[in-house]
Amino acid sequence: MRAAGRVVFRALSRAREMARPGMTTLELDRVVYDTYTSAGGHGLFQWYPTYEPGKGFPGNTCISVNDEVVHGIPGDRVLKDGDVVSVDCGIQLGGYCGDSAITIPIGQVSPECEKLCRVTEETLALAIREVRPGRRWTDVAAKMQEHVEKNGFSCVREFVGHGIGVKMHEDPKVPNFVSDDFRKKGDFYLQPGMTLAIEPMVIAGQCDVVVLDDGWTVVTKDSTPAAHSEHTIAVTATGCDVLTDGR
Ligand code: MG
Ligand code: MG
Repeated sequence: MRAAGRVVFRALSRAREMARPGMTTLELDRVVYDTYTSAGGHGLFQWYPTYEPGKGFPGNTCISVNDEVVHGIPGDRVLKDGDVVSVDCGIQLGGYCGDSAITIPIGQVSPECEKLCRVTEETLALAIREVRPGRRWTDVAAKMQEHVEKNGFSCVREFVGHGIGVKMHEDPKVPNFVSDDFRKKGDFYLQPGMTLAIEPMVIAGQCDVVVLDDGWTVVTKDSTPAAHSEHTIAVTATGCDVLTDGR
């Protein structure tokens, strides 16, 4: 999984280097695709979830701009100064998966967007610091939610992190917030050897989201910007090991 994670890291680093005003999201998708295929990685997003060509997600990466939260389809949209662009990449290498996302500020972004990107990254970093064996996931999720909300932002409810291993999406569900329902039915204790994708999705305004007519792109209902940050991690005997940080 670390080998897969290293390739995902390289692909996203390349996207961060290359993203600039005037580039289309399809061109950015190509940069990511070329990086992971040249390393022998097999993309997990195209034609998800059926993997039947022509059915499912029509892109190699999810590229979501401004009020798009997740699952944006790469296309002819041109990036411009001030945009915030989240790039999500999942691949399989040697039978194991890596899944990671970053949000890239394009040129000079507003102070609000700068704070949004920073708080989203901080929320992921905070979760990683809090992961250790024997702890309940809701204890970690409560701290993530608190950090987002004390900064005046909100956590997406409809989409959550997940277990990951030989498949991209495995049990358990890994939310970035706490609900009574999840406490009763979904909570779990962190155990050494568990591998999870932790992925805060943060909205500058209210938490409500809508899926566009393309069937994929998730946008904020109030049109405020959103950011997304994700790492694949392993729970170890003493804490947490990040598998998609390039080591
Ligand atoms: Mg992802
Ligand atoms: Mg994921």
